Amino acid sequence: MDKVELRNMLLTITTTHAPATDLGYLLHKNPARVQSFDLSFGAAHVFYEEANTEVCTAALLLDVDVVGLVRNRRTPHGEGGTLQQYVNDRPYVASSFLSVALSRVFRSAMNGICKERAELVEEALPLEARLAVVPCRGGEGLLRRLFEPLGYEVEAVRHELDEEFSEWGESSYFTVALRGRVRLRDLLTHLYVLIPVLDNEKHYWVGDDEVEKLLRHGAEWLSGHPARDEIARRYLKHRSSLAREAVARLIEEDDVSSETAEVQAAKIDEKEPEVERAVGLHTQRLNAVLAVLKSVDAKRVVDLGCGEGKLLRLLLADKSFTGIVGMDVSHRSLEIAHERLNLERLPERQQERIKLLHGSLMYRDRRLEGFDAACVVEVIEHLDAPRLVAFERVLFEFVRPDTIVLTTPNSEYNVRFETLPEGKLRHKDHRFEWTRDEFETWANGASNRFGYTARFLPIGDEDSEVGAPSQMGVFTLKDEVGRMKAEVR
Ligand code: SAH
Repeated sequence: MDKVELRNMLLTITTTHAPATDLGYLLHKNPARVQSFDLSFGAAHVFYEEANTEVCTAALLLDVDVVGLVRNRRTPHGEGGTLQQYVNDRPYVASSFLSVALSRVFRSAMNGICKERAELVEEALPLEARLAVVPCRGGEGLLRRLFEPLGYEVEAVRHELDEEFSEWGESSYFTVALRGRVRLRDLLTHLYVLIPVLDNEKHYWVGDDEVEKLLRHGAEWLSGHPARDEIARRYLKHRSSLAREAVARLIEEDDVSSETAEVQAAKIDEKEPEVERAVGLHTQRLNAVLAVLKSVDAKRVVDLGCGEGKLLRLLLADKSFTGIVGMDVSHRSLEIAHERLNLERLPERQQERIKLLHGSLMYRDRRLEGFDAACVVEVIEHLDAPRLVAFERVLFEFVRPDTIVLTTPNSEYNVRFETLPEGKLRHKDHRFEWTRDEFETWANGASNRFGYTARFLPIGDEDSEVGAPSQMGVFTLKDEVGRMKAEVR
């Protein structure tokens, strides 16, 4: 199996964002030139397969210098080596080479540096990465497990082995295409970390500073990844002490590090806190949101963090909503929503009214613009507090609808739930729960910063001391100026 020739590796990155040639700025590579880089193990060349305003494809070709490598292998381990040894090793290290090349050739892009197109750095763009040949010992399932939770559509074709090798079983080489709407810097770091993870064989760089690299490059997306532990383990070449350290540092908060990813995923899947179920709070909440939407005569509504689509179902049942979009970061939730809403079997006219999108509240996404109202129901408390700044911008500055309806638990009420131990949050995946005061302080601050006004409504039976179990903020865009600005953008 290891005889597959991997001297050359080709990665292409394509965008259809208009104008597509902006890719050249983001990558810091001029489409008109071929650029070459000397690396310790060979050379990397960057050129463009296509560069026009509609489509732009940049290619990174890696040329591994087999002979030079064998020579260099004497250091630092002082072992020397034979060509045969290297030939046997080569596929194992192939993917590390590609990662190293990525980080050298596209370092600025990976770090999100781009003076000429600063606004595009933070924007999720339609991107496709193609790896002409990549070793993936975990098969297609692993590819999907790693990349789909990050929002990519994965296409993988396994390479056929030549007949003479057919008794060796299946080849572990794939041609892979990853498509998604992501920031370019994220695509590059995902590739940087996950290509060696696919390989799952020793790669030559593992040392303590790899933990730092993994944490630095994975900081924004790895802690919430369902295959987090597997990624850390494989990236750190099964050195369990390093992997444990990495995982422990990724989740600073609490004791969940000892849980398997599946257990965590299952917990997150139980969307509705059990303590709330008893009082039918969620139904009351959804009805309250619906009432606000009707009162402002919203026609086009986006449900951000729509989960399994409970609110979408109510919207769909009411003809006054003509355009309905549900967005969530969880593929699994969207699949469940798709099924529960019976989207497959709806008459065509109804199907046209509703769309489900995979996305994230952390990134600007043009598909979420132009709505009368946005709902964010029981989502904010699932976001890490330091990321609220990004969330605020996405919601108030970019989505920027006329009306925002946002709900979150009122933590003061927790003492009234008899089964909830003191000081505990209502749900495992909640990062925080706010008192009425805390919620109103955040909401008023955000309103002031972005030109909205906020009013607050209780949800559920109000207690004279601790208030209602849940709280809702209704945000209204202040004036026409704000609206016009949003339209110009
Ligand atoms: N609004 C739904 C689901 C609430 S549970 C309801 O009321 O039933 C919280 C939801 O937020 C989950 O579906 C979760 O996947 C989603 N979510 C968490 N972080 C997100 C993010 N960064 N972007 C989009 N959705 C997110």
